[in-house]
Amino acid sequence: MSFFEAVDPKFNQFVMGNAPVKQLASGFDWTEGPVWFGDANCLLFSDIPNNRIMRWTPNVGISTYREPSNFANGHTRDRQGRLISCEHGGRRVTRTELDGTTTVVADRYDGKRLNSPNDVVVKSDGSIWFTDPHYGIMTNYEGFRSEQEQPCYLYRVDPASGEISAMVTDANCPNGLAFSPDESKLYMADTGRMFQDDPTHIRVFDVLENGSLSGGDVFHVVSPGVSDGFRFDTDGNLWTSAADGVHCISPNGQLLGKILVPEVVSNICFGGRGKHVLFITATTSLYSIALNRQGAQTP
Ligand code: MG
Repeated sequence: MSFFEAVDPKFNQFVMGNAPVKQLASGFDWTEGPVWFGDANCLLFSDIPNNRIMRWTPNVGISTYREPSNFANGHTRDRQGRLISCEHGGRRVTRTELDGTTTVVADRYDGKRLNSPNDVVVKSDGSIWFTDPHYGIMTNYEGFRSEQEQPCYLYRVDPASGEISAMVTDANCPNGLAFSPDESKLYMADTGRMFQDDPTHIRVFDVLENGSLSGGDVFHVVSPGVSDGFRFDTDGNLWTSAADGVHCISPNGQLLGKILVPEVVSNICFGGRGKHVLFITATTSLYSIALNRQGAQTP
C-alpha cells in the first residue's frame, strides 16, 4: 500500500518511499494537541474526552503525563520551553512552570469567561496567541456543557503586561493557528459549528509592524474534512489535518500532496532528532511518519 498521494510531483521529494505511517499508540477517544519535547525525548498530546494528557516516549511507549487535565486540548511551548495548554474544562490557557505548578495565562476577556480555548502558539516576542471557539462547552464530552459568554475570537496575550486583546473577531469557530516561519503572516483555520456545515478553510493575515493584523483572505479550502490543526516546515509549506490524512499546502495555497492516515486527523506537529518526524493525532490513535522536511515551529 502507499502511504502517500502526490498531487504535484514536487511532493515526492518531501516523502520517502521506505518511511511508513506508523501507529505508535491507540485506544484513546479523541486525540489532539501534540507537542514535542526534544529535551525530554517525548511527545505530549491530549486525550480530551478522557480528561488526560498522554506522553509517548520512543522505545518506551505510552504513559500518562497529567490526569485530570481540565480537558486540555492544544499545546505548545513558550520561548523558555514551558508547556502552554488550552483547557476546555478550565475555560483558560495555562503555563506549566518548571517546578510543575501551573499559572493562568488567560481565562477572561471583557469581564466574561472565555469559551473553551482550543489551540495556541507563541510568537518569538513571547506573545501567546490562542483561539477560543465554543466546542468544549457545547457538550459534556470534551468538557463541561455550559453557557457561552463570548463570541468565538482569536486572542493575543501581551508578554509584558499580560493584557488580552481580541485580534480576529469575524471568524465562525477559529481553531488551528500558526505563524509563517518568518512570522510575517498568521494563519488561522475556521472550522464552523459542530452541528452544521460551515467553513472548512484556512485564512491568512499580515502581521503588521505594530503587531496588529490585516487582511484575512481565504488561503486554502480543506477537503475532505477540516483543518483542525497545522504546522509549517522550514520551506513554508503548511501541513494540515484533514479527514483523509495530512495535506501539504504550498506557500501559495496549492495542495501538493497527502499523507494517508486511516483515521480522521485532528492535529500535527514536527519532532524527533531533526524535527523531521511528523507526529499525527488522529481520532483514537497517535501516528508518525519520517519526512524529508524539517519542522519550522519553535522551540
Ligand atoms: Mg483544534
